[in-house]
Amino acid sequence: MELLRINLEQYELPKFWYNITADLPNKLAPALDIHGNPASLDDMAKIFPHTILEQEVATARYVEIPEEVRRIYAQWRPIPLCRAHRLEEILETPAKIYYKYEGMSAAGSHKPNSAIPQAYYNKLAGVKRLTTETGAGQWGASISYAGQMFGLPVRVYMVRVSYDQKVFRRSTMTAWGSEVIASPSELTKAGRDALAADKNCRGSLGLAISEAVEDAINDPNTCYTLGSVMNHVCMHQTVMGLECKKQLAKIDEYPDIVIGACGGGSSFSGIAFPFLGDKLYDEPKAKNLRCIAVEPTSCPSLTKGVFTYDFGDASGYTPLMKMYTLGHDFMPPGIHAGGLRYHGCSPIIAQLYNDKMIEAVAVPQLATFDAGVQFARAEGIIPAPESCHAIRVAIDEALKCKQSGEAKTILFCLTGHGHFDMLSYERYFSGELENYDYPQEAVQKSLEHLPKIEK
Ligand SMILES: *Cc1c(COP(=O)(O)O)cnc(C)c1O
Repeated sequence: MELLRINLEQYELPKFWYNITADLPNKLAPALDIHGNPASLDDMAKIFPHTILEQEVATARYVEIPEEVRRIYAQWRPIPLCRAHRLEEILETPAKIYYKYEGMSAAGSHKPNSAIPQAYYNKLAGVKRLTTETGAGQWGASISYAGQMFGLPVRVYMVRVSYDQKVFRRSTMTAWGSEVIASPSELTKAGRDALAADKNCRGSLGLAISEAVEDAINDPNTCYTLGSVMNHVCMHQTVMGLECKKQLAKIDEYPDIVIGACGGGSSFSGIAFPFLGDKLYDEPKAKNLRCIAVEPTSCPSLTKGVFTYDFGDASGYTPLMKMYTLGHDFMPPGIHAGGLRYHGCSPIIAQLYNDKMIEAVAVPQLATFDAGVQFARAEGIIPAPESCHAIRVAIDEALKCKQSGEAKTILFCLTGHGHFDMLSYERYFSGELENYDYPQEAVQKSLEHLPKIEK
């Protein structure tokens, strides 16, 4: 342990997370209840420990990463910053392309960056058990692994369709000791109601959230965890961008463009916010910095949604958050980047986008797989379908440099490996995958059901 401690000091592993809410040009709109009053912390305290809630509303610019968390981060961090030399050559671009490969973590994605501190802070507050929901399984796997690291049992409500289809993700969670329940289940009222209405109900993320939340409310020793969207999750992920910043500084580099896929927005926040912070502080090197959030054309919350108050879940259990939303009853088509199928986004990202501090683009599914395969053949790593969205835009920006002759420095976040997603690749290779543009009329229709604040 002593050796590990000495090494921790030498590592590029940051000692603090960056809390961008301290530097936002316009403050965040508060979460509200349906009557238009600020959401009560007492209600939130039924499902989150005070240690997590303190982070959610933290005002300090930097928040210390506890040593217990850094020791576990050290299992896979710092992650080397890679330059995609071979991809640059193939593209014949003067641009320099750097990436951070988060598939190095035990769970194979960036999500343990937040799962580890969330398990730690729950343990610190004396919580005895965790609940969560999972769709595609990335978050469920990450919090299962994190629960093991701190001796906390985890119950994962997994959407029934995924439970049946994504068997390997399910067994990954079981291997890490979690109890994986197909949702809807008989264990909660929300689940029983859904099954009473339709005994073959295939479930939805919104329903699984309702079950996990209800479970946590009913047991005073149990708390609920969430893998994206909330402020503290975005803050934990800044460990990635802060690491990149140190690594780039060592080779006298600074990015012109930072790119990340955007579902709930935690990984984009993590890679982009530490650099964006320089821009907010008028640092000359960040003057022309562009940060681009990439979403699927089938779930275009930033590019086609509206900036307004909406529920975080499908059933209306969460407080109202001001964000870009497609409407909480948005029904995502069955695209293969499961982690990007969220109707809303982090309120911080929404505010920054509204303030024109960041950009957003939507890309079609086939073009993302084209980019993922091109990347795998050049650099070796097979990316998760979510990560392919960032790669698509990194390649597009590099090709623009080829046209203009500019040698820009591009940095993107490779959020995870695609080893559990090979069925999606198989569909792509056999020509079964299709593009899908979520129609503006459907957005309009969902927006008619936005919650009406009663004040
Ligand atoms: C969950 C996930 C995402 C999207 O979530 P964000 O909170 O937007 O980062 C992206 N890539 C992978 C591999 C994921 O598991």
